[in-house]
Amino acid sequence: MSIETFDKSAVEKSLRAVVDPATNKDVVTLGMVKHIAVFEGAIRIVLELSPHAASLQEQLRTTVDRAVREAATIACATIETLEIDFVAPKISAPTTEPVAASTQGESGNPLPNVKKIIAVGAGKGGVGKSTIAVNLAVGLARMGHKVGLLDADIYGPSAPTMLGMDDVGTKAKGQMLLPFELHGIKAMTIGKLVDPDKALVWRGPMAHGAFKQLATQTEWGELDYLIIDLPPGTGDVALTMSQMLPVAGAVVVCTPQRVAQDDARRAVRMFQNLGVEVLGVVENMSFFTAPDGKEYDLFGRGGAEIMAQTMGLPFLGSIPIHIALRENSDSGKPLENWKNATMGASLDALCQRIEAQVKLAEMAGRTDRPTLTISP
Ligand code: ADP
Repeated sequence: MSIETFDKSAVEKSLRAVVDPATNKDVVTLGMVKHIAVFEGAIRIVLELSPHAASLQEQLRTTVDRAVREAATIACATIETLEIDFVAPKISAPTTEPVAASTQGESGNPLPNVKKIIAVGAGKGGVGKSTIAVNLAVGLARMGHKVGLLDADIYGPSAPTMLGMDDVGTKAKGQMLLPFELHGIKAMTIGKLVDPDKALVWRGPMAHGAFKQLATQTEWGELDYLIIDLPPGTGDVALTMSQMLPVAGAVVVCTPQRVAQDDARRAVRMFQNLGVEVLGVVENMSFFTAPDGKEYDLFGRGGAEIMAQTMGLPFLGSIPIHIALRENSDSGKPLENWKNATMGASLDALCQRIEAQVKLAEMAGRTDRPTLTISP
């Protein structure tokens, strides 16, 4: 096959093999491919990339280069030149407004009234990250703390369902959004601000702007803890968060299986690369307790604990698969989780260990880190 048959659509097809690990979607689906030109053996590809993801540019260039060349080789086509260029996205969303001046503390900390910020992350979706974030927020509030929950999972916000906010509308005071006050906590979610069907395609500076707006233009008031439910994987939102907020530490949620551990390791490394202290690992869906009380190790109980040990990280506890936990999440009634004594006790133990790790990190001065700056 000659280069003539390795045409624009063949190049586009080859780009479908380049997948963003954060969303598990390819660069074509994500709308990052802005231009493909093929002319007499010369190929030019223009990709859209946020300046905030500039550190990923060379890695992406290599991956794209390899994918296109491999596809050309399979098609027996010869590539004379392959040019891969990057452009910054055109900003059209209202989410890029500057942070309201009134929200900036004198130190440059946009949330001076929040004592401790804890991020909850996971290597991939579906491991129970939002469940842990919601129950951590509600659990800390039950212990008497003033707690906020920021659902920053712009790719799949869960707070509207898990907190039962479906029928509650957003309220604003001037430029500031008023958080929802329910189950003893204050909450804000991207799910209330955007059409959830559109959230999936939010990339680059839109994700950056959305996070910034949610975090700093919500009237949190005085908080002991702000829990941030991050999107799964390693992406723009974690980077923006680490650049913008003095995060006390991150909790990584993992299920016991080997495949989940590999993803969780990547999430741990991402936080470490961003200079965010990893407070420890939570093993969710650790085992299943049947109604007769018998325990079943469905996914290989203890896997996440071993992973934590091998990475030298604290293990924060195991939460079993509990039908009531899923039911209470679906019905938006997290406080019901404490009606079951065993489950309430494991959630309380988790909250206490996380609090203890935050204190330890503070005592060791590990949360006093310099602000990381990555130039575009
Ligand atoms: P993630 O935020 O990682 O995508 P979620 O917290 O949304 O995951 O959880 C995915 C699904 O699994 C939800 O339906 C949730 O109710 C359920 N779930 C999470 N953890 C448990 C658990 N320990 N027991 C039972 N169901 C759970």
